[in-house]
Amino acid sequence: MEKRELVIIGAGPAGMTGAIYGRRAGLDVLVLEKGIPGGQINTTDEIENWPGVLMATGPELGESFRKHAEKFNTEFRSASVERLELREGAKIVITDQGEIEAEALLLATGASFRKLGCPGEAELTGKGVSYCAVCDGAFFEDAVVAVIGGGNTAVEEAVYLTQFASKVYIVHRRDEFRADRAAIEHALSNEKIEPVYNSVVESIEGDGLVEKLVLKNVKSGEVSDLEVEGVFVFVGTVPNDESFKGFVKTTKGGWIDTNDRMETSVEGVFAAGDVRDKFLRQVVTAAGDGAVAAMSAYSYISQQQHLRHKLLEPQEVFALFYSSIDEKHAHLAGEVESWMEGKDTKIVLIDAYKNAGVAQKMGVSELPSLLHLQKGTEVARKECHSLGDITAQIQ
Ligand code: NAP
Repeated sequence: MEKRELVIIGAGPAGMTGAIYGRRAGLDVLVLEKGIPGGQINTTDEIENWPGVLMATGPELGESFRKHAEKFNTEFRSASVERLELREGAKIVITDQGEIEAEALLLATGASFRKLGCPGEAELTGKGVSYCAVCDGAFFEDAVVAVIGGGNTAVEEAVYLTQFASKVYIVHRRDEFRADRAAIEHALSNEKIEPVYNSVVESIEGDGLVEKLVLKNVKSGEVSDLEVEGVFVFVGTVPNDESFKGFVKTTKGGWIDTNDRMETSVEGVFAAGDVRDKFLRQVVTAAGDGAVAAMSAYSYISQQQHLRHKLLEPQEVFALFYSSIDEKHAHLAGEVESWMEGKDTKIVLIDAYKNAGVAQKMGVSELPSLLHLQKGTEVARKECHSLGDITAQIQ
């Protein structure tokens, strides 16, 4: 089976930043992406809050992220991840193109637009129902359209649509929008925009193409028709979690639970970007997550390799775990090094202060301790405070 060091699932800002950091740290990185690299930003018309770039379109920024990752020889592969499995501790990525064993995995699959779930929505998607103003807005020149939702996306995309549409209704289920004040003021000052508050969409109707919305007023219960040719649904996001449902711990709504090192509940599996449970889902926070996750993965992979090469693979090994910040331990380590000179006997010195993960994995909490391993199996362990203690163990 193909074996890789770091497999990144998703080529949005989080995944591509993870690739840049992973490659710069010298890791073998494979990025799997089922769509066009860039992720959600491909559907964004203007990005003006990526520091250092006053204005760029989403696709422009996505393309520059990709070029940057390619500069460090990142391998991109177009593949759809079906599921993830742990086989005897090994992390296996099952794709439509075969299986890959990853030393570490970075889940950066992002999020997608939430659906309304009302009758007519699925049938009329692409026939007037859209989730992307940048992609489809131009099809609605001089048409009347509705935007559904009350957050920043709904309010900002409604303004964008006024470039094309003759009228844009914003249908929201509450009596005020939840977007930030500046965005609301900007939208409401546009004469093409008309808010429709306290209303939910009962159904989207039309004969082959969208013709009208059936709305229900949540306060009065009154049902009415709103004639529109286009419906843009912006009612929040859901995590792209199809490939890892049940594999890592998630919070309510399916967002991946991580700590601040981007570690998930499964050792060696990291998550970054919008798919994570987090406060702010933006390009800049996704990129920050990607950098942290890649460096955590680097540290994890280094520890794993250290553990294997020094301790688990040799026929027989003695390992002294000590702490370099303890003067007595450091002195003892020096004595051991001098004692080994000219002898066949080798003792692997493991600084548990710098390699806490290795010590934890071997269950070493008392320092200094000498472990005797044969082909990765522990045969003896003893706390040793002097060179005499140590040599007595290895005779
Ligand atoms: P959001 O803030 O979660 O807003 C979703 C909106 O959809 C809410 O108004 C919600 O109503 C409504 N909604 C949810 N389910 C619904 C349903 N089934 N039927 C009808 N309405 C429904 O999502 P978002 O606007 O996509 O924004 C996501 C995040 O990105 C936010 O943190 C936002 O601030 C951020 N963002 C920032 C910018 C920017 O900085 N320029 C731009 C876009 C997005 P309720 O209000 O009743 O819950």
